[in-house]
Amino acid sequence: VVSPKPPEETDNVRVAVRSRPLSQSERNNNHQSIVTVDQTRGEITIVLPDPKGMREPKKTFTFDSVFGADTTQADVYNETARPIVDAVLEGYNGTIFAYGQTGTGKTYTMAGENNPETRGIIPNSFAHIFGRIHKCEGETKFLVRVSYLEIYNEEVRDLLNKKSKEALKIRERPDVGVYVKDLLSFVVKDTEEMEKLMSIGNKNRAFGATDMNERSSRSHTIFSITVEQSQMGPDKKEHVRMGKLHLVDLAGSERLSKTGATGVRKDEAASINRSLTNLGIVISALVDDKSTHIPYRNSKLTRLLQDSLGGNSKTVMIANIGPADYNSDETLSTLRYADTAK
Ligand code: ADP
Ligand code: MG
Repeated sequence: VVSPKPPEETDNVRVAVRSRPLSQSERNNNHQSIVTVDQTRGEITIVLPDPKGMREPKKTFTFDSVFGADTTQADVYNETARPIVDAVLEGYNGTIFAYGQTGTGKTYTMAGENNPETRGIIPNSFAHIFGRIHKCEGETKFLVRVSYLEIYNEEVRDLLNKKSKEALKIRERPDVGVYVKDLLSFVVKDTEEMEKLMSIGNKNRAFGATDMNERSSRSHTIFSITVEQSQMGPDKKEHVRMGKLHLVDLAGSERLSKTGATGVRKDEAASINRSLTNLGIVISALVDDKSTHIPYRNSKLTRLLQDSLGGNSKTVMIANIGPADYNSDETLSTLRYADTAK
């Protein structure tokens, strides 16, 4: 395997914020939008409730990219995901995270709807990858593999293997790095095959859960695509490049511990809080060149993604927020999280 030249060091970690439109029911209930987006300046401003009603305190945050209610899925793809997928096609690793409170658009951003206009980053990346492959096929041979897993309560499960009931173990080997033992991976030849695997995985995500939304808001899912390509070099030797893309729909960031959860719910809440907090710490340590210790091992999520975060890898975090007034606490906390991650 030939290591590619390092890409531009400057923006290997980027943070974007996307505010979804007010929903129909929010409009029906007369909720106001308290979020304004200035896309050219990269600014998001939130109006905070003022108990005394004297003035409207505002807070403005700046990010690498910001997207408002009228941003299209294609805009989001082109600005956040496209450069990462291009890097993966050159043999680098890349990770795209969707962060945010449940109901703010993480799954809309990552998976989207079954429609070419409103499909999300995952299906758009399939089209991008296979579009490139069809263009370069002939002189280059490609091998594309897919796996799909879920981290629920700090346990890893294979979403493409319904039969596997046991939690899977994370292992490390000097030649392959960190990997999940017994995780299935499937070779795919076109976007249709990839889409089929994505929908099988999505169905298994709900399998056994009493309430699909409950479960999906409490687990992280990682859809991983490995692109291997080999080319005959001028030296008549075969040159192999491999890039990995991880597409991560994170568990809801709402602070469950505040809702008085007990038992299993409380454990879930604690493990989600811990892994999201640790992810924020890892990402900000990667941005800060002075950090020497990066605590990958403090959660399954960062441990699994260890070789795709930092170094020559490219990472983007898309923090999703809702614009409505009643969400101001959670929205502010998401903006703060995204702000410390950059
Ligand atoms: P999450 O995965 O964060 O819980 P969802 O992606 O399920 O949230 O989004 C909640 C609802 O809002 C869904 O009905 C979704 O279709 C809608 N939605 C989210 N983002 C947008 C958007 N940018 N434009 C239109 N509808 C959106
Ligand atoms: Mg979701």
